[in-house]
Amino acid sequence: RSFHRTDRQFGDITTGVRLLHWNVISKGCDEAVSSPNNIRVLQWNLLSQALGQMNDNFVCCPDEALEWKTRRFHIVEEIVEYNPDVICLQEVDHFSFLKTILATQGYEGMFFPKPDSPCLYIKGNNGPDGCAIFYRKDKFELLKMETRVLEVWRVQSNQVAIAALLRVRETGCEVCVVTTHLKARNGALLSTLRNEQGKDLLEFVSKHCGGRPVILCGDFNAEPTEPIYHTVLTNRQLRLASAYTMLARNSDHDNNDDTLGALEPPYTTWKIREEGEVCHTIDYVFYTSDSFSVDAVLNLPSGEDIGEGRVPSFSYPSDHFSLVCDLRFTDTKA
Ligand code: NDP
Ligand code: CA
Repeated sequence: RSFHRTDRQFGDITTGVRLLHWNVISKGCDEAVSSPNNIRVLQWNLLSQALGQMNDNFVCCPDEALEWKTRRFHIVEEIVEYNPDVICLQEVDHFSFLKTILATQGYEGMFFPKPDSPCLYIKGNNGPDGCAIFYRKDKFELLKMETRVLEVWRVQSNQVAIAALLRVRETGCEVCVVTTHLKARNGALLSTLRNEQGKDLLEFVSKHCGGRPVILCGDFNAEPTEPIYHTVLTNRQLRLASAYTMLARNSDHDNNDDTLGALEPPYTTWKIREEGEVCHTIDYVFYTSDSFSVDAVLNLPSGEDIGEGRVPSFSYPSDHFSLVCDLRFTDTKA
């Protein structure tokens, strides 16, 4: 159960070999078969082209690795190689490109920009960045799409969310898929702000899911020790769990720390800026715990896999790693 990438050649840029493993939680699931009772979710902050190239200052990443004319195919490859049913993306500033190319692979998508995207202040930008959701058209019917500019103490912020109500064509099962990208940067005030955005997000989700199972993915810009992580997992109405904690639960893990969040992976982003190396977990896939079980989770690449310059790089087009997992409806007869 592994993906072995032997050829990562695009144009004249030759890239490395990547070996990633599926961590199979429930025996009997087959990664190659897409079942109507299973939803494969891909969550990814794919790194906005304008921010990545002009703003982030990734000091170990060669400029050529950030050129759109080649990077865009690495992005598409990262998405399609896992054959996801649902794709939740943040920092999308080339939605038209993705929509066109993913349509050829059977996906339909929606986009909601940030009200005052930092991309707009960058020379040569391609418009605002925002969140996007794509879904497999043959598997789902879109019932409704809702968007939200997240509020903090009743005032609109610069962060957004999208909710898509999807119906599995074959079974009639419905699911509410939500994605968001919360406010970035460190500091106690910003941690409070993220928690307020998160509360508004959960209200938005509760209002629109109408009791349906929820898959809530995003770049929360918050480590598991932040209040927002606790807020999400203790919401009584939504009863959410975090899919990637299954990685540690499924290993010979001897961590006796039972604090909420101790089981999250060590990183979902790993980059080197002038200020230093940043390696932490801020991206999550949350799901309604009594409606789904986690069948499989795609491992994060190891430090050795990604190399000393960390990411982005020629092999990894974003500073965030994609999270991929298989969720199985438990409240239907398989
Ligand atoms: P956020 O703090 O949420 O960050 C915006 C983006 O910057 C995120 O995508 C984030 O990525 C990225 N980011 C985080 N840390 C760094 C870093 N150290 N270096 C580079 N990029 C980083 O900002 P807002 O959405 O609130 O928007 C920023 C504001 O900038 C807007 O309100 C806009 O009006 C304002 N602005 C900018 C001007 C300019 O000239 N640049 C002028 C006037 C206003 P990630 O989530 O992956 O960490
Ligand atoms: Ca970013």
